[in-house]
Amino acid sequence: MSEETRKVTCIICPMGCKITVKLRNGEIVGVEGASCPKGKDYAIEEVKSPKRYVMSVVKCKNGDLPTVSVKTDKPVPKDMIWKIMDILSRIEVEAPVEIGSIIVENVLGLGVNIVATRPCRKVKS
Ligand code: SF4
Repeated sequence: MSEETRKVTCIICPMGCKITVKLRNGEIVGVEGASCPKGKDYAIEEVKSPKRYVMSVVKCKNGDLPTVSVKTDKPVPKDMIWKIMDILSRIEVEAPVEIGSIIVENVLGLGVNIVATRPCRKVKS
């Protein structure tokens, strides 16, 4: 029988509760330290399937800046982050790009879009 304890800091609200998740043979058998149910759910999710927003840049052709900043519109599984970063490193968009423009739709079939978080204006020639 293997027992394990994971510590999770809840980021849902500023209280930042320190939550302890106990596992036995890979199964969650206890969650302590959460001051509310949302934090308990967050800690379980963080242990079972951690997710993060991805923030990066893509190249912007004919723009006032060489790149445009982008992010995922939902958190993605942590083990997909480097695959997404690899895709973004190979993308070049054409200016103009507006805030909120979808740069990649349904990236890796995850149901998550990559959206622009700042504009890239077209440079007049
Ligand atoms: S467990 Fe609840 S009270 Fe504590 S940080 Fe998370 S959301 Fe806030």
